[in-house]
Amino acid sequence: MTSGAPYENEPVYQNAVKQLKEAAALLGLPDDVVEVLRHPERVLQVKIPVRLDNGKIAVFIGWRSQHNSALGPYKGGIRYHPNVTIGEVVTLSMWMTWKNALAGIPYGGGKGGIKVDPKKLSPRELEELSRKYFAAIADIVGEDIDIPAPDVYTNPQIMAWFFDEYSKIKRYPAWGVVTAKPPIIGGLRPREVSTGYGTALVAREAAKLALGGFEGKTVAIQGFGNCGRYAALYSVKWGAKVVAVSDSKGGIYDPNGLDVEKLFEVKDKTGSVINYPGAKRITNEELLELDVDILMPAALENVITEKNAPNIKAKIISECANGPTTPEADHILHQKGVIVIPDILANAGGVMMSWIEWSHNRMGCWLTDEEALDRLDKKMTHNFHEVYNEWQKKYSDHPMRAAAYAIAVDRVVRAMKLRGWI
Ligand code: GLU
Repeated sequence: MTSGAPYENEPVYQNAVKQLKEAAALLGLPDDVVEVLRHPERVLQVKIPVRLDNGKIAVFIGWRSQHNSALGPYKGGIRYHPNVTIGEVVTLSMWMTWKNALAGIPYGGGKGGIKVDPKKLSPRELEELSRKYFAAIADIVGEDIDIPAPDVYTNPQIMAWFFDEYSKIKRYPAWGVVTAKPPIIGGLRPREVSTGYGTALVAREAAKLALGGFEGKTVAIQGFGNCGRYAALYSVKWGAKVVAVSDSKGGIYDPNGLDVEKLFEVKDKTGSVINYPGAKRITNEELLELDVDILMPAALENVITEKNAPNIKAKIISECANGPTTPEADHILHQKGVIVIPDILANAGGVMMSWIEWSHNRMGCWLTDEEALDRLDKKMTHNFHEVYNEWQKKYSDHPMRAAAYAIAVDRVVRAMKLRGWI
């Protein structure tokens, strides 16, 4: 029976519910508990009228979804993208609940989004949009309530505007209300690299177990935003060879390996990796099917589906993006023997570093960059092996995601039981 909730018919949400139901079946959870878990606790929709530079007013719609708070305040990013929908935001908030539970950090799950193409706005328009959005959701966020961070097409500058707007409304400097702030106003420098660092780290650990090592292994990365670019950097640092990368304009391939520092330069100067000289041009779809050892989808949802999964040649997939693999594709890849390190494990480095930042904001003290990165490294390595071992021990007939979900959902359910919610 449908509940009539506006996100319910969106395919991205339905995929998330499928994943939840698979975990529930493994854990033997009754249907009523699944029903409780599949809905967010609260979703706020806001109108954001922005005075454009040409004098006209444009109205944008934004959301903040608070999925579950059994383990702590809601935590998760805010994305700006022309295709954002309520269903996507709700789904992403549910994935944050599992990600934070699996990470072992004291947070529930939340996510926000505005349906906007930020590339079409001037810096002043972007600032007005950001400040008005945060003012509109100010009543439901807070250091102990809901703590946003960046996601697709949002960045530390936008976090600085959020922090400032909220601090003005509340009339005190609310350091802990957002994370991934610029370092001068309460951020931690390694937050910038942390998501990609974690994705490369778990790929490295998996390669040690399944491919006899990470060194010399070939890597293809779809997406060259915050996660993709640092996943590339650390893959190379730890001895692998990045042979293909892409962004929304297309991809490039060089079997001899790409120069990652040069890629950063080309991307920052020209706006796209496709302007990197001397590599073969490929499409985003072709990149996914390249003959490489390791694939890192680092863009958007649903790019690996039942259509292209049979053609994927990588032996390890480390999910930098949220939700890049559909449940059907996950099973096809598992049958083929591909290890898919699920997003809620592989891209948790960002939110883990957010937690380190937030806890230090609350204490009024600072870690050095080395200490922060060292903590992340130890925690990510530990979490990867915890999930991998549980998978091998109990759930090896299923994709690795099943083990990650079973651990995460079980933690949330236990907290809800203890609190008397179910
Ligand atoms: N948006 C990121 C994610 O999907 C980071 C969230 C955070 O740091 O709160 O995990």
